[in-house]
Amino acid sequence: MNGPEIAEFVRRAAASVTTEAERLTRLDAAIGDGDHGLNLSRGFAAAVGALPAGGPPGKVLIAAGRAIVSKTGGASGPLYGTALRRAGKACGDADDIDAALLGAALRAALEGVQELGQAAEGDKTMVDALAPAVRAYDEALAGGNGLADCARAAAEAGREGADATVPMQARKGRASYLGPRSVGHLDPGAASTALILAALADVAEGRA
Ligand code: ADP
Ligand code: MG
Repeated sequence: MNGPEIAEFVRRAAASVTTEAERLTRLDAAIGDGDHGLNLSRGFAAAVGALPAGGPPGKVLIAAGRAIVSKTGGASGPLYGTALRRAGKACGDADDIDAALLGAALRAALEGVQELGQAAEGDKTMVDALAPAVRAYDEALAGGNGLADCARAAAEAGREGADATVPMQARKGRASYLGPRSVGHLDPGAASTALILAALADVAEGRA
């Protein structure tokens, strides 16, 4: 994927979280404070506004991540911003990222989120979508698949990972204040991560 394609990913992710803002907010209203959809649509709109006119994927991702950190409220802003910035750094100045490099970028994003938020899998956070996505991506890559198939495998695992947060009790973020009452609800951040991964897969597959 080249710079313009990565910019298209950011635009598509922005469109998706905006379209789904109401659902994300509803999920967050159940176990948080009901601002997740608004936070993300605002943050990703800022990312779209900050997209550079050109440049390699790494530069595009870093610019988007920086905008998200500065414009997104809530816990998710710094986490998503860090994810995009770390992914961008992992891309270096490559003009075109191949399947292996995109896998490395996804892993760097996950590591950034975990370093900052200290969440493990099972804590009912975005990590429960992102970590299985990274694993599925790596497995698909090891199986000899190309970038688009790896990205689709990651998106599917991300969605399954998000769905699997329903029976979990939150141990990080606002939802953890609810203790056992957080059980039985889909984690909003895991849901938005699944949307963002789907946007990546769509662009990787060349869907206009
Ligand atoms: P806030 O909780 O500050 O209102 P948001 O509503 O935008 O922020 O985001 C909530 C989401 O952020 C949660 O659903 C969860 O997925 C994610 N989250 C919260 N804390 C952490 C953490 N420490 N590590 C990873 N993800 C987290
Ligand atoms: Mg919230």
